[in-house]
Amino acid sequence: MSDIALPCEDLLIAHAWPAVRRSAQATVRWGERVVTIGGDAPVRVQSMTNTDTVDVIETAIQVKELAIAGSELVRITVNTPEAAQAVPHIREQLDRMGIDVPLIGDFHYNGHRLLTEFPDCAKALSKYRINPGNVGKGDKRDRQFAMMIEAAIQYDKPVRIGVNWGSLDQELLASLMDDNAKRAEPWDAKQVMYQALVSSALQSAAYARELGMDANQILISCKVSGVQDLISVYRALAARCDYPLHLGLTEAGMATKGTVASAVALGVLLQEGIGDTIRVSLTPQPGEARTQEVVVALEILQALGLRAFNPSVTACPGCGRTTSTTFQELAKQIDDFLRAQMPVWRKRYPGVESMKVAVMGCIVNGPGESKHADIGISLPGTGEAPAAPVFIDGEKAMTLRGEGIAQEFHQIVEDYIERRFGAH
Ligand code: SF4
Repeated sequence: MSDIALPCEDLLIAHAWPAVRRSAQATVRWGERVVTIGGDAPVRVQSMTNTDTVDVIETAIQVKELAIAGSELVRITVNTPEAAQAVPHIREQLDRMGIDVPLIGDFHYNGHRLLTEFPDCAKALSKYRINPGNVGKGDKRDRQFAMMIEAAIQYDKPVRIGVNWGSLDQELLASLMDDNAKRAEPWDAKQVMYQALVSSALQSAAYARELGMDANQILISCKVSGVQDLISVYRALAARCDYPLHLGLTEAGMATKGTVASAVALGVLLQEGIGDTIRVSLTPQPGEARTQEVVVALEILQALGLRAFNPSVTACPGCGRTTSTTFQELAKQIDDFLRAQMPVWRKRYPGVESMKVAVMGCIVNGPGESKHADIGISLPGTGEAPAAPVFIDGEKAMTLRGEGIAQEFHQIVEDYIERRFGAH
């Protein structure tokens, strides 16, 4: 092996920082709470309720849960006069509970009427989502779109022009298909669909500007459900405008599929600097908390190093060198413990969200990985001496033995957090 020439001496490898797309900056407000989006603001996490908006208490409770889980903006359906009437009461309920997360109204078909006939709803919302494919047909389309933009201007609210391929403006698509048929070499149908999505968003934004809307009050999204489609569309969108972009794979699906598809699609785009707010559109499994979509969104941003929300626990997958479940249990206990404490720790221990903890299964990678973490434990694998060295800030600090390793390690982690992040 020593005879093999390796190009190691000049092997300087650039760190893969996410690219930066400097978009315009929009601001979404409620009371004292100001959420900046785009510009140099961090990528924001958004979510959406699945309660009946008419049910004020149930909706307010779910908004609260989503906000506590980490959602910085929460969208609610506003689809009927009854829902529009409920919106200010939901807002009041949230204010009473001390939850100042901005609410976004999701409008389709009748948003123009709801926003003009229910001014208290229009005022209680902090942002309106307008789907240009669902504002009306023919000559009504522009008029009804204009009514929504006029309400946004009147109440000083930003809008998201949210195109979705499931409700794409069919007249625009048909016209682009006709144009395409006249090309000497027609594009394939998918290219025309991409063009229709991007054109629908940008033409609607241009019309909103014509109506007097400030550019920094407009956000854009073009959601599709295919990973490669989403990447293609957002690259095109990002190249053609500097509006802040809301990013999400629509109808991502359930559980592992929805999580992985969202992580892959959003990961690629966020790494390219594309995306100013994100939503993970997971279909909850029966009994699963709605907050799971927020948990996944936070994990995506944290995995990319774009934001830090919770201390991260590095754990090995285990293999034939460890036949007990001790380290799996300890990794889970520590992860659960750290997450459960975060609502309090976030305020008490600023910076703790960036902490790295390692829980490893044996001597092969255990000590090395533990040294890379702020605090790590290397549990004994099968056949190893029953001792678990603990590493703190890269140095071996102690060795734990016996039955109480888990409890002792918990205490060591707590003491470390107090020492390093507590107010002194
Ligand atoms: S650290 Fe040890 S137990 Fe964990 S995966 Fe590696 S070899 Fe297996």
